[in-house]
Formats: sequence, structure tokens, C-alpha cells
Amino acid sequence: MIRIAVANQKGGVGKTTTSINLATALAATGQRTLLIDLDPQGNASTGLGVSHAERDRSSYDLLTRECALGEAVVATRVPRLDLVPATVDLSGVEIELVGSEARTHRLDHVLATGDRWDVCLIDCPPSLGLLTVNALVAADSVLVPLQAEFFALEGLSQLLQTIERVRARFNPDLSILGVALTMYDRRNNLSAQVADDVRACLGNVVFDTVIPRNVRLSEAPSHGVPALIYDHRCPGSEAYISLARELIARLPAPAVAA
Ligand code: ADP
Ligand code: MG
Repeated sequence: MIRIAVANQKGGVGKTTTSINLATALAATGQRTLLIDLDPQGNASTGLGVSHAERDRSSYDLLTRECALGEAVVATRVPRLDLVPATVDLSGVEIELVGSEARTHRLDHVLATGDRWDVCLIDCPPSLGLLTVNALVAADSVLVPLQAEFFALEGLSQLLQTIERVRARFNPDLSILGVALTMYDRRNNLSAQVADDVRACLGNVVFDTVIPRNVRLSEAPSHGVPALIYDHRCPGSEAYISLARELIARLPAPAVAA
């Protein structure tokens, strides 16, 4: 199972929207896909229509108790897409695990039992704390959503530093799969300027696909379905399908069949 952390410590940059729709697009191409909601806000869970009643077991249990991956997984309405939901309990994990052994490797250990899936996306919270570190330790690579707005690159060096530290201490093979520009507004010159700057600064690591600002993407979660189901022909959905194609092309060859 290929594991990809969707991370950026800034809030509101499109991590969850990217996690949900990319996971859906990957599932649509035939990949058995697992999405782990690692944000106490549980937006990915809500956006996939998983009610609080269905969050009996959650990512909190995976990190803090002897809960098997299979016990915490719920099926979604999307064929081939399963979810480990999140609850607010997650916000206490940092304190609960203080001093406990291997607290940075909890998720990594749990995911070792994930042979049922081809690919796993981890939707990280907006911080660089223990939850995101668990995701980075568990991941093969990181996908960084970057909002195409002024200050897009601000904070990126902190994220890269954290990735570097995790690589040095725990996970030498951790790579950056790519940077995805999100909420791109074609009518706004600033978006184009920011996109140019980001490409000049980061080069090929930036995906060619740009996710447009599209109201369908923000409406879909309130209906409890991915945009790809809510309106599969809207520009946002098409962009995520294109991003999934690019992503698959970047993955190590036989691991995932395109
Ligand atoms: P994060 O998980 O990084 O906090 P979200 O994915 O939750 O970010 O996005 C923040 C807000 O912006 C949400 O309300 C979401 O619906 C909206 N949003 C995200 N991407 C887009 C987009 N491309 N176009 C329009 N709205 C978007
Ligand atoms: Mg989020």
C-alpha cells in the first residue's frame, strides 16, 4: 500500500478538499483507496457523509489504543473508497501520548496491516505537531496543497524543515510527491503571478494540474459527497481527475497500475 500524507500546517489551503477528491479519483481508476482523517475537525469524515454515529472507532483509537486498522475503517458511498474517520478526541492525542514509547510511529505500525488497499491518503491537521509527524513517519511521500494566494510560500520552509527532520530521524525514504496549487482564480492576476513564483521557486515538484477556485468543490461537503459525485463535470472535479493521473504517473512503477 502506497502511503501519501496530504500536509501543510496552514489551515484552509485545500488539504481536505484535495484528500477527498483525489481519493475519489484514485478509487475511480480502480485503486482500492483508504483515506485516513487525521484532523480533529473531522472535515474529511463529514465531507464523505460519515455521521458522528458512525465514528465509534476513529483515528484516535488507532493512535492511542490497541485498535486494529480494520476495526476503525468505514465504507463510504464511493466504491473502493474506505475511510478511517476522525473525532475531536484527536485533539488530545498530543498530551495523552507524551512520554509514551514510539508515539511518533503509531500510525506507521497500524498501516503495516493495510494490505487490503493499494493506496492510502492521510489528511493532516493544520499544524506540525504529533499528528502530522505520525503521518510523515508513516508516509512514503508528501503531497503539499498550496493556495494560489499572496503568502502562498510563507510557512513552506517550516514544513520542508519538518519533512527534513522526519527524514533524518525516522523515515529516510520520505519524498515529496508534489506540490498542488489550489483555489486558483483565472480572473485574478495575482493567482497567475503566485503560480509563476511558486513554479520558479519549486520547479518540477509543482504539478502541472492547477486546482481552480470552484464553488462546486466547496458545496459538495455539505451534501456529504465528494465533488466528483456531486458534479463530476465541474472544473474542480475535472482538475482532481487530472491531478490523480499526474500523481499515478509519479508513483513508483509497478506499485500502482494506471
Ligand atoms: P484545509 O483542509 O487545508 O483546511 P479545506 O480543503 O478544508 O482546507 O478548504 C478550506 C475551505 O475552502 C473549505 O471551505 C473548502 O470547501 C474551500 N475550498 C477548498 N478548495 C477549494 C476550491 N478549489 N475552490 C473553492 N473552494 C475551495
Ligand atoms: Mg482540513
